[in-house]
Amino acid sequence: MAVDRPFREQIVRFGAMLHERGFVAATDGNLSVRLDENRILVTPTCMSKGSMRPSDLVIVDNEGRLVKGRRRVSSEIAMHLLIYRLRPDVRGIVHAHPPTATGFAAAGMALNQPLVCEVVIGLGSIPLAKYGTPGTPELTEALEPLVPHYDALLMSNHGVVAYGADLEQAYMKMETVEHFAKIALVTHQLGIQQPLGAAEVEKLIVVRAKYQNGLPPSAASMPVSFSGSDGNHHRKNAEAPEERKDLTASRESK
Ligand SMILES: [Zn+2]
Repeated sequence: MAVDRPFREQIVRFGAMLHERGFVAATDGNLSVRLDENRILVTPTCMSKGSMRPSDLVIVDNEGRLVKGRRRVSSEIAMHLLIYRLRPDVRGIVHAHPPTATGFAAAGMALNQPLVCEVVIGLGSIPLAKYGTPGTPELTEALEPLVPHYDALLMSNHGVVAYGADLEQAYMKMETVEHFAKIALVTHQLGIQQPLGAAEVEKLIVVRAKYQNGLPPSAASMPVSFSGSDGNHHRKNAEAPEERKDLTASRESK
């Protein structure tokens, strides 16, 4: 218990921050930390992320079986297990329903335009995974092709999942996604978007390594797609990243 204590406190703290910022309502959302190769500390089901205590958290193994804890494990545990399986570099995961980013996910719009330099550096782009019923293999199948390539995903008609080298990184990525969604929304309200061109994006990707703050680099390649200024306006779920790497920037204004 003593060894897990700092991680339990971290989950409680970031859970409260998700709730405070309105990124989750009621008992939405879930957070987890990979403690070691075979143990994952995760939030329980049916609890507000704003009022958890360290002792409410549960520990499961890599198959999702309860190892320790009095409560029932999050119903989204399969999503966490999938990400930990596909990404050995990931040690923390945050899933929430921040309203603006989830609005994009409900409109069938990826956040894949290179509109803000910091987001290109930190995340590349945020693709939209196909819809899958929560807690079923349909959802993990929809996420699976994208998890190796990105550190944050929009889940169609559902929400956002973000992950990183530790829980703090995962939480920060969640905040970045929601903040970027607000900025993207303003460009839609203004009726014009001026995405960065391929040359500018290439330069940002080169400097990415400098922004790791001593943390191990993400294993994701974080490609940036240039789908053109109207590429977002139709319901378009993420294709395989390989097909989205075309670097022909379209700067036609709308
Ligand atoms: Zn959810």
